[in-house]
Amino acid sequence: MPAIVIDGKAVSLKIREEVKQRAAALGERGIAPCLAVVLLGENPASLSYVTAKEKALTEAGMKSRDIRLSAGAAETELLSLIAELNADKTVHGILVQLPLPAHINTDRIISAIDPAKDVDGFHPVSVGNMVLGRPGFLPCTPHGVVFLLKELKIPLSGAHAVVVGRSNIVGVPLANLLVRRDVNATVTICHTGTRDLSRHTLEADILIAAAGSPALIKPEMVKPGAVVIDVGVNRVPDSAKEKGYRLCGDVDPAAAENAGYITPVPGGVGPMTIAMLLQNVVQAAEVYNYE
Ligand code: NAD
Repeated sequence: MPAIVIDGKAVSLKIREEVKQRAAALGERGIAPCLAVVLLGENPASLSYVTAKEKALTEAGMKSRDIRLSAGAAETELLSLIAELNADKTVHGILVQLPLPAHINTDRIISAIDPAKDVDGFHPVSVGNMVLGRPGFLPCTPHGVVFLLKELKIPLSGAHAVVVGRSNIVGVPLANLLVRRDVNATVTICHTGTRDLSRHTLEADILIAAAGSPALIKPEMVKPGAVVIDVGVNRVPDSAKEKGYRLCGDVDPAAAENAGYITPVPGGVGPMTIAMLLQNVVQAAEVYNYE
């Protein structure tokens, strides 16, 4: 039987509605939740991500301050901008769209953001809080995946989750969230150094692909009935498309024949990432020290 397709968009809309109500409540207190969105250069994928985030913020009744710098902007310029945004009491969250140009030290930039405004959850303080299970901002994509699994009431406690990918943005934080007591999964992380990837993926009750490799996960790599979450968003050249490319996940769509549940690309994890960002921004504005 083909897999049930998980509607990430529908779940994300529910969250966005809740965020909208929380933003409206803040509005009654004279607070306008605001996210500063910083983009360097004109990378088409980054541009489309920030545009989607800014649109979602507006729809949720929140503000975005859109800051565009040239791809050649100096690191010192970006650091001064972050210092200004850190000090600005009308800005509750700061998002610097990644990847940054090669001449900029990404770690230094992320570390310069005030952890109280780190709505991406990438600052070492946020990462530390996440690992220790303390309150703080959770990274949007991993949090979105866990939220989606919980919302769908997928049995997680004791389940074997296999995460393919070990980036600081997706794979590693996701594995951390899955292993926390509130999820209680047993986790395997696979990466480019993993021998015999299928041996691991075939063991997965929950298989999460975050490798950035189009259609890496083939149907025969999926245990029958497994829950398959496809985080990958890859642009594959396609002359039949107006834009010259199509979006493709890390999972071969034919894997739906084996899986019990599967997320589509687009419409699965992507909308959840944006919803979690909105949630972090409203949370940042709620707990902000206004004195
Ligand atoms: P990344 O390139 O930083 O990391 C990819 C990881 O996958 C690496 O750790 C690597 O070891 C592993 N990997 C790559 N090829 C592999 C292979 N053949 N076998 C085993 N492991 C392999 O990428 P990222 O930032 O973690 O993003 C991963 C994917 O998720 C990308 O397609 C990205 O566009 C997408 N993404 C989607 C969202 C969303 O909201 N849907 C958000 C962030 C990233």
